[in-house]
Amino acid sequence: MKLSDILKKEQVTLSFEVFPPKATANYEAVEEAAYRVAKLKPSYMSVTYGAGGSTRSNTVKIAKGIQDKYNVTTIAHLTCVGATKERILQDLEQMREVGIENVLALRGDRPQNYEGDPFVQYHYASELVADIKEFGGMCIGGACYPEGHVESANTHTDILHLKKKVDAGCEYLTTQMFFDNNIFYNFLCKVREAGIDVPIIPGIMPITRAKQLQNAVKLSGCNVPMRFRSIVDCFGSNPMAMQQAGIIYATDQIIDLIANGIKHIHVYSMNNSNVAKGIQDNLLGLL
Ligand code: FAD
Repeated sequence: MKLSDILKKEQVTLSFEVFPPKATANYEAVEEAAYRVAKLKPSYMSVTYGAGGSTRSNTVKIAKGIQDKYNVTTIAHLTCVGATKERILQDLEQMREVGIENVLALRGDRPQNYEGDPFVQYHYASELVADIKEFGGMCIGGACYPEGHVESANTHTDILHLKKKVDAGCEYLTTQMFFDNNIFYNFLCKVREAGIDVPIIPGIMPITRAKQLQNAVKLSGCNVPMRFRSIVDCFGSNPMAMQQAGIIYATDQIIDLIANGIKHIHVYSMNNSNVAKGIQDNLLGLL
């Protein structure tokens, strides 16, 4: 099913994200963890794409497995940094062959130790979006950044670039994580003012380990409110307490979003079914 059709429905959706096995990982163990999340039957799931195409075929394999075994619609992520147009075409053909109709079109980050310029054939995600649109038959999504993308000078120019990506064919956008909902509401006003009218799906990251917060902040540059810092300071050294506090903080963010009229919520559950289930159980009756 196309995500655009799921998003048109009236009910609130809760989706989960998983990652595929890396080439060096234990394939079966990672697959099993992703399937445990699928067993929770979220509204749909997305499967990430390893930096620089490192999990290329595993992304599609896991996405297909989730659809076939658990009847949960999936989105396959696809990045274009360092890719040739031929390779992108092969990836899209592989998706079409196995019945994947949703793709999250991303530029990706510059790979470490990459020799030469990785942005030769593709410079920005909007070029990938245009190619996928031309390929046809896919519901195309893109990423957006409520606090601005790390490379952009300011949120204003970032939103102008985002408009180009949507005009190229994005049918919805999923946000980078944020820990303060006011940042999201503010961003939503600005993108609507800029004439971007596709659904914007907030991406919520449950932080259940103190180290995870450091990595998340390093990667995304997102703001961490004092309220959440205190939680991590207090419970960070107690794994069970930190997991519970992280689930509750994420649930609290989601309830506030739903109460403010946001109908579609994406959770960066990664392959942790306990965290995904914890959030889902907390929302019982709200979805
Ligand atoms: P773009 O939309 O191309 O934007 C990148 C930068 O270029 C921005 O600063 C933008 O303002 C600027 N820009 C865009 N167009 C122009 C233009 N025409 N002229 C000048 N500047 C321009 N990474 C992975 O490797 N695998 C994943 O599976 C993955 N999933 C993600 C899912 C979500 C929801 C999010 C938010 C991010 C994800 N990422 C993933 C990370 C993403 O690849 C990086 O954030 C990357 O640096 C930017 O990708 P993008 O698609 O947003 O790029």
